[in-house]
Amino acid sequence: MSPALLLVKSRSSASYPARTPSGRRSRVADRPPRADPGHHAGAVRSAQSGRPAGDAGLAERLLEVIDSGRRTATYKLAVLMALLDLCARRSGQDGRAPDVLHTRDIAAQVAALYWPQVIPYRQPGSGDAVDLRQITAPRAAIVRAVRTFRQAAEAEGATSLHLARQRLAGQYEEMLDQVEIIVTAQPLPRLQAVGTADKAFPFLYDLDWGPRETFTARRLRRHGPAGPVIRLLPGAGEELVRLAPLIRPLVEMHWTRMVAQINGVAQAELDLHRHLFGSGRLNPPKPLRDGLADLQQGRCFYCLRSLSRRPDADHFIPRVRCGIDTVENLVLADPACNNDKRDLLAAPPLVATWASRNTRHRDHLASLARAARWDTDPDGTLAVARSIYHHLPPGPTPFWLGFKRVEPANPADALTAITGP
Ligand SMILES: [Zn+2]
Repeated sequence: MSPALLLVKSRSSASYPARTPSGRRSRVADRPPRADPGHHAGAVRSAQSGRPAGDAGLAERLLEVIDSGRRTATYKLAVLMALLDLCARRSGQDGRAPDVLHTRDIAAQVAALYWPQVIPYRQPGSGDAVDLRQITAPRAAIVRAVRTFRQAAEAEGATSLHLARQRLAGQYEEMLDQVEIIVTAQPLPRLQAVGTADKAFPFLYDLDWGPRETFTARRLRRHGPAGPVIRLLPGAGEELVRLAPLIRPLVEMHWTRMVAQINGVAQAELDLHRHLFGSGRLNPPKPLRDGLADLQQGRCFYCLRSLSRRPDADHFIPRVRCGIDTVENLVLADPACNNDKRDLLAAPPLVATWASRNTRHRDHLASLARAARWDTDPDGTLAVARSIYHHLPPGPTPFWLGFKRVEPANPADALTAITGP
């Protein structure tokens, strides 16, 4: 269960129900006294669920941030990394994570992350050095600001960020203004959205400003020299510190892969990854596709619109959860739905449709698979789905319900759909 979601009911999370309708013991009560540094809240077991109190929900959501962050720009990854760092760096005398973080601090941390990355990259064995792009869109304000500052600093002989900050103090502050403006406008409000839906489901922090508010440098400074704050939800900072050793290498890996993809460098490594672990794209033979299309009456499994001639075969249980390619885990979807769903878990109503298809057409699916020499394992597929939904934290969890639709639902409803009440 997520402590972040347990206790908090705040203005920007008002649309997101608090997580304890059952009056479950709060995290604060579970928590050891602040003076006891040897204690880990994660070792405390929740009285009701019997599983560790720390924290499936937060880890779950962090993985979603990493997944969505790698798709369009590295900004979300940079902000997440900055939060991990700052929760440790700004810890109190007792070692506890801070309650608030200032946007100026976050901007400085983000700028420090990009500082080495704006150096032109020279591919091994190639003569040319290239400026790496960090974003698919043409405008990249953060990177441009850091790069411009770095070039100015190097012209003054300052090769480290530390020196650059001292020698070009005024320009450093101007660069931070630009980074802070972007960070408050985009990644900070967007980080907690799920999928491509706009609505944020806070699990790490609340913003001290409205989601549509935009800042100029002057308006930022009205909040003081350190800017406005984000308020970390109870327990969230602690969890970030604890999970940092797991999250950081994951972020670095996705970040690297994303930059490689955007810039078309390091193709060999991408090819090797594809060779070792597969591309994640499925290409079932035509008879199998046709059979599945018949079962879906020629409609997209998700939105029920008529399928094009070459629909995507989608892993209903996302491949990132468990690479299960059985016919029972395949559905046909139009590319719009498939790309929007990505690695998100489907909402209970979709799970119900999927489970009932697999039950009603169990023998037919198996014979389709046999004819197409494809894997079939109805029981194993069901077991995977059961296990995944069973291990989600109880209470409202954001699920994918359709194109640009993410809604909170109770994972238990999905389990009921799979196993019966
Ligand atoms: Zn669709």
